[in-house]
Amino acid sequence: MASRSPLRGKLVLITSGPTREHLDPIRFMSNGSTGKMGAALAKAALSRGAKVTVITGPVTIDYPKGAEIVRVITALEMYEQTLRRAKRPAVVIGAAAVSDWRFARTATQKIKRGPGETSLTLVPNPDIMAAVGKRKKKGQVVVGFALETEHRAAHAARKLRAKQLDAIVANGPSSLGGSVSEAVLLTRGDHLVPLGRASKDAQARKIVREIERLLEERPA
Ligand code: C5P
Repeated sequence: MASRSPLRGKLVLITSGPTREHLDPIRFMSNGSTGKMGAALAKAALSRGAKVTVITGPVTIDYPKGAEIVRVITALEMYEQTLRRAKRPAVVIGAAAVSDWRFARTATQKIKRGPGETSLTLVPNPDIMAAVGKRKKKGQVVVGFALETEHRAAHAARKLRAKQLDAIVANGPSSLGGSVSEAVLLTRGDHLVPLGRASKDAQARKIVREIERLLEERPA
Protein backbone atom coordinates (compact mmCIF):
# COMPACT_ATOMS: atom_id res chain seq x y z
CA MET A 1 0.00 0.00 0.00
CA ALA A 2 2.65 2.52 1.12
CA SER A 3 4.79 1.57 -1.90
CA ARG A 4 2.25 3.32 -4.14
CA SER A 5 2.09 6.46 -2.03
CA PRO A 6 3.42 9.62 -3.69
CA LEU A 7 4.87 10.37 -0.23
CA ARG A 8 7.19 7.36 -0.32
CA GLY A 9 10.79 8.54 0.12
CA LYS A 10 9.66 12.18 0.18
CA LEU A 11 10.45 14.62 2.98
CA VAL A 12 7.61 16.01 5.10
CA LEU A 13 8.36 18.94 7.42
CA ILE A 14 5.91 19.57 10.27
CA THR A 15 5.81 22.44 12.78
CA SER A 16 4.17 21.36 16.02
CA GLY A 17 3.31 22.34 19.58
CA PRO A 18 3.25 25.77 21.20
CA THR A 19 5.96 28.40 21.29
CA ARG A 20 7.08 30.10 24.46
CA GLU A 21 7.86 33.81 24.65
CA HIS A 22 9.90 34.80 27.68
CA LEU A 23 9.31 37.97 29.69
CA ASP A 24 12.23 37.17 31.97
CA PRO A 25 14.14 33.97 32.86
CA ILE A 26 11.15 32.72 34.93
CA ARG A 27 7.99 33.93 33.18
CA PHE A 28 6.70 33.29 29.71
CA MET A 29 3.60 33.59 27.48
CA SER A 30 2.41 30.43 25.72
CA ASN A 31 -0.74 28.42 24.91
CA GLY A 32 -2.27 25.00 25.56
CA SER A 33 -1.04 23.23 22.43
CA THR A 34 0.30 19.75 23.24
CA GLY A 35 1.80 18.73 19.88
CA LYS A 36 -0.65 15.81 19.57
CA MET A 37 -1.76 16.80 16.07
CA GLY A 38 1.84 17.22 14.92
CA ALA A 39 2.67 13.78 16.34
CA ALA A 40 -0.40 12.22 14.67
CA LEU A 41 0.58 13.79 11.33
CA ALA A 42 4.16 12.56 11.71
CA LYS A 43 2.90 9.03 12.40
CA ALA A 44 0.51 9.10 9.42
CA ALA A 45 3.20 10.42 7.04
CA LEU A 46 5.77 7.86 8.27
CA SER A 47 3.24 5.07 7.67
CA ARG A 48 3.03 6.21 4.03
CA GLY A 49 6.79 5.88 3.60
CA ALA A 50 7.73 9.55 4.04
CA LYS A 51 10.80 10.87 5.86
CA VAL A 52 9.57 13.20 8.57
CA THR A 53 11.13 16.16 10.38
CA VAL A 54 9.18 17.78 13.22
CA ILE A 55 10.13 21.25 14.45
CA THR A 56 8.50 21.44 17.85
CA GLY A 57 8.03 23.90 20.66
CA PRO A 58 8.14 22.66 24.29
CA VAL A 59 5.88 19.59 24.69
CA THR A 60 5.75 16.59 27.02
CA ILE A 61 4.40 14.08 24.47
CA ASP A 62 6.64 11.71 22.53
CA TYR A 63 6.91 12.01 18.77
CA PRO A 64 6.98 8.76 16.78
CA LYS A 65 10.29 6.96 16.50
CA GLY A 66 11.68 7.42 13.04
CA ALA A 67 10.92 11.15 12.87
CA GLU A 68 13.77 13.64 13.16
CA ILE A 69 12.92 16.07 15.97
CA VAL A 70 14.19 19.65 16.11
CA ARG A 71 13.38 21.32 19.45
CA VAL A 72 12.85 25.07 19.71
CA ILE A 73 11.38 27.40 22.33
CA THR A 74 10.38 30.68 20.71
CA ALA A 75 8.49 31.62 17.54
CA LEU A 76 11.63 33.29 16.19
CA GLU A 77 13.60 30.06 16.67
CA MET A 78 10.81 28.07 14.99
CA TYR A 79 10.81 30.57 12.13
CA GLU A 80 14.58 30.25 11.63
CA GLN A 81 14.64 26.45 11.81
CA THR A 82 11.61 26.09 9.51
CA LEU A 83 12.79 28.55 6.87
CA ARG A 84 16.26 26.98 6.90
CA ARG A 85 14.70 23.59 6.07
CA ALA A 86 11.70 24.62 3.94
CA LYS A 87 13.24 24.27 0.46
CA ARG A 88 13.79 20.48 0.28
CA PRO A 89 10.52 18.92 1.56
CA ALA A 90 7.73 17.84 -0.78
CA VAL A 91 5.28 18.82 1.95
CA VAL A 92 5.35 21.43 4.73
CA ILE A 93 2.60 21.27 7.38
CA GLY A 94 2.12 24.06 9.93
CA ALA A 95 0.45 22.41 12.92
CA ALA A 96 2.20 24.59 15.52
CA ALA A 97 0.26 27.07 17.64
CA VAL A 98 2.73 29.89 17.17
CA SER A 99 2.52 32.84 19.54
CA ASP A 100 1.34 35.87 17.58
CA TRP A 101 3.43 38.18 19.76
CA ARG A 102 6.59 38.22 21.84
CA PHE A 103 7.66 40.67 24.53
CA ALA A 104 9.48 43.70 23.15
CA ARG A 105 12.14 43.10 25.79
CA THR A 106 13.17 39.93 27.61
CA ALA A 107 14.75 40.83 30.93
CA THR A 108 17.92 38.96 31.83
CA GLN A 109 16.97 38.94 35.55
CA LYS A 110 13.60 38.21 37.19
CA ILE A 111 11.48 41.38 37.07
CA LYS A 112 10.61 42.60 40.58
CA ARG A 113 6.98 43.14 41.53
CA GLY A 114 6.04 46.82 41.93
CA PRO A 115 3.19 48.36 43.98
CA GLY A 116 0.90 49.35 41.10
CA GLU A 117 -0.04 48.51 37.56
CA THR A 118 2.54 47.77 34.96
CA SER A 119 2.33 47.52 31.20
CA LEU A 120 4.24 45.32 28.84
CA THR A 121 4.84 45.93 25.16
CA LEU A 122 4.22 43.09 22.71
CA VAL A 123 5.62 43.02 19.20
CA PRO A 124 4.30 40.75 16.42
CA ASN A 125 6.09 37.51 15.56
CA PRO A 126 6.67 36.64 11.91
CA ASP A 127 4.10 34.35 10.28
CA ILE A 128 6.07 31.17 9.58
CA MET A 129 3.61 29.51 7.20
CA ALA A 130 3.03 32.72 5.24
CA ALA A 131 6.80 32.90 4.72
CA VAL A 132 6.88 29.24 3.62
CA GLY A 133 3.92 29.84 1.27
CA LYS A 134 5.63 32.87 -0.24
CA ARG A 135 8.80 30.89 -0.98
CA LYS A 136 6.97 27.74 -2.13
CA LYS A 137 8.87 25.78 -4.75
CA LYS A 138 7.21 24.15 -7.75
CA GLY A 139 5.23 21.04 -6.85
CA GLN A 140 5.56 21.59 -3.09
CA VAL A 141 2.40 21.19 -1.02
CA VAL A 142 2.01 23.60 1.92
CA VAL A 143 -0.71 22.96 4.51
CA GLY A 144 -1.78 25.16 7.42
CA PHE A 145 -4.19 24.96 10.33
CA ALA A 146 -6.73 27.56 11.45
CA LEU A 147 -8.35 27.58 14.85
CA GLU A 148 -11.60 29.49 14.48
CA THR A 149 -14.38 30.17 16.96
CA GLU A 150 -16.88 31.29 14.29
CA HIS A 151 -17.40 31.43 10.49
CA ARG A 152 -14.84 28.67 10.30
CA ALA A 153 -14.82 27.91 6.59
CA ALA A 154 -14.91 31.58 5.52
CA HIS A 155 -12.04 32.63 7.81
CA ALA A 156 -10.02 29.56 6.85
CA ALA A 157 -10.55 30.27 3.14
CA ARG A 158 -9.19 33.80 3.64
CA LYS A 159 -6.10 32.45 5.45
CA LEU A 160 -5.55 29.84 2.74
CA ARG A 161 -5.21 32.66 0.20
CA ALA A 162 -3.37 35.15 2.38
CA LYS A 163 -0.68 32.60 3.33
CA GLN A 164 -0.55 31.08 -0.20
CA LEU A 165 -1.31 27.61 1.17
CA ASP A 166 -2.54 24.60 -0.80
CA ALA A 167 -4.81 23.38 1.97
CA ILE A 168 -5.94 24.45 5.42
CA VAL A 169 -7.47 22.48 8.27
CA ALA A 170 -10.09 24.53 10.13
CA ASN A 171 -11.02 23.40 13.62
CA GLY A 172 -12.60 24.79 16.76
CA PRO A 173 -11.09 25.73 20.14
CA SER A 174 -11.93 22.30 21.63
CA SER A 175 -9.18 20.80 19.47
CA LEU A 176 -6.43 22.63 21.39
CA GLY A 177 -4.89 20.18 23.83
CA GLY A 178 -7.55 17.48 23.42
CA SER A 179 -7.12 14.19 21.60
CA VAL A 180 -10.38 14.55 19.63
CA SER A 181 -11.19 17.42 17.30
CA GLU A 182 -13.91 18.36 14.82
CA ALA A 183 -12.54 19.80 11.61
CA VAL A 184 -12.88 20.48 7.90
CA LEU A 185 -10.13 20.64 5.33
CA LEU A 186 -10.28 23.22 2.59
CA THR A 187 -8.07 23.05 -0.46
CA ARG A 188 -7.18 25.68 -3.03
CA GLY A 189 -10.05 25.69 -5.50
CA ASP A 190 -12.51 25.59 -2.58
CA HIS A 191 -12.71 21.80 -2.34
CA LEU A 192 -14.11 21.09 1.14
CA VAL A 193 -13.39 17.78 2.88
CA PRO A 194 -15.19 17.16 6.21
CA LEU A 195 -12.79 15.47 8.64
CA GLY A 196 -15.59 14.81 11.12
CA ARG A 197 -15.39 14.59 14.87
CA ALA A 198 -12.69 12.02 15.30
CA SER A 199 -9.40 11.28 17.03
CA LYS A 200 -6.41 13.32 15.90
CA ASP A 201 -4.86 10.06 14.60
CA ALA A 202 -7.89 9.43 12.38
CA GLN A 203 -7.98 13.03 11.18
CA ALA A 204 -4.25 13.01 10.48
CA ARG A 205 -4.67 9.92 8.27
CA LYS A 206 -7.39 11.73 6.30
CA ILE A 207 -5.27 14.89 6.00
CA VAL A 208 -2.32 12.85 4.73
CA ARG A 209 -4.61 11.16 2.19
CA GLU A 210 -5.66 14.59 0.90
CA ILE A 211 -2.01 15.67 0.75
CA GLU A 212 -1.28 12.58 -1.37
CA ARG A 213 -4.10 13.63 -3.69
CA LEU A 214 -2.64 17.13 -4.00
CA LEU A 215 0.84 15.69 -4.72
CA GLU A 216 -0.61 13.44 -7.42
CA GLU A 217 -2.38 16.42 -9.02
CA ARG A 218 0.91 18.23 -9.53
CA PRO A 219 3.98 16.06 -9.39
CA ALA A 220 7.33 17.80 -8.78
O1 C5P B 1 -3.38 33.20 11.31
P1 C5P B 1 -3.46 31.99 12.20
O2 C5P B 1 -2.57 32.06 13.41
O3 C5P B 1 -4.85 31.56 12.54
O4 C5P B 1 -2.90 30.83 11.25
C1 C5P B 1 -2.71 29.54 11.72
C2 C5P B 1 -1.73 28.83 10.81
O5 C5P B 1 -0.59 29.65 10.57
C3 C5P B 1 -1.19 27.56 11.41
O6 C5P B 1 -0.84 26.69 10.35
C4 C5P B 1 0.02 28.05 12.18
O7 C5P B 1 0.97 27.02 12.37
C5 C5P B 1 0.55 29.12 11.24
N1 C5P B 1 1.22 30.25 11.89
C6 C5P B 1 2.58 30.40 11.71
N2 C5P B 1 3.24 31.47 12.28
C7 C5P B 1 2.56 32.38 13.01
C8 C5P B 1 1.16 32.24 13.21
C9 C5P B 1 0.54 31.16 12.65
O8 C5P B 1 3.19 29.57 11.03
N3 C5P B 1 3.21 33.40 13.54
